[in-house]
Amino acid sequence: MSYQIAIDGPAGAGKSTIAKEIARRLGFIYVDTGAMYRAMALYLLKKEIPTDDPEKIRAASQKADITIAYKDGLQQVLLDGENVTAFLRTEEVGNMASVSSANPDVRKKLVELQQELASRENVVMDGRDIGTCVLPNANVKIYLTATTACRAKRRYDELTAKGETCDLAVIEADIAKRDHQDMTREHSPLRQAEDAVLLDSSDLTISEVVERILELVKIG
Ligand code: C5P
Repeated sequence: MSYQIAIDGPAGAGKSTIAKEIARRLGFIYVDTGAMYRAMALYLLKKEIPTDDPEKIRAASQKADITIAYKDGLQQVLLDGENVTAFLRTEEVGNMASVSSANPDVRKKLVELQQELASRENVVMDGRDIGTCVLPNANVKIYLTATTACRAKRRYDELTAKGETCDLAVIEADIAKRDHQDMTREHSPLRQAEDAVLLDSSDLTISEVVERILELVKIG
């Protein structure tokens, strides 16, 4: 049996940074499921599918070929054979992902891919529904959160470091909107699994969060 660590939480809580570091420390693979939803969103944006048309989203999403590969231990997302990893972390793609991920057919397709990866390898997987839906029997489940202001500031710093011009107030509003969409959608809404450990990273450093999670991991 593979060992599974599930990390869920809202946008900007630090899931990917933490999950990547835990995977590195344990020699597991890191599965970023948000990147898969973002690749699907990129596909829909390229095809100019309107965000308010669930039927068009459903039909188009079934044609997208999304696969995962690993290069130097880092997850790469291939969309129709092209490596799109570098184009996924924009606000436009994130906002579209939050809309299109509410579609059950989009979710079904990507959840199958996620479960298949986790059945073959020891994984640290992050997302919104990993502990509740994708890996209900995960060995360790974490619900990682932080205040909205704190998450917005982190996303702002991340984008500015990449040279993108952005507005903190707009990012904070986007995050609040995305949280609302993710938490209130009908299919697999973001929520803490009953057996997940709650961690608020607002006043913790990355290494403090990593250490707390590693304390919960018992292997062998
Ligand atoms: O985590 P990230 O910001 O990359 O995720 C982008 C969007 O993808 C989220 O706002 C959410 O709507 C969706 N998502 C999801 N289920 C997951 C991971 C991401 O619905 N497991």
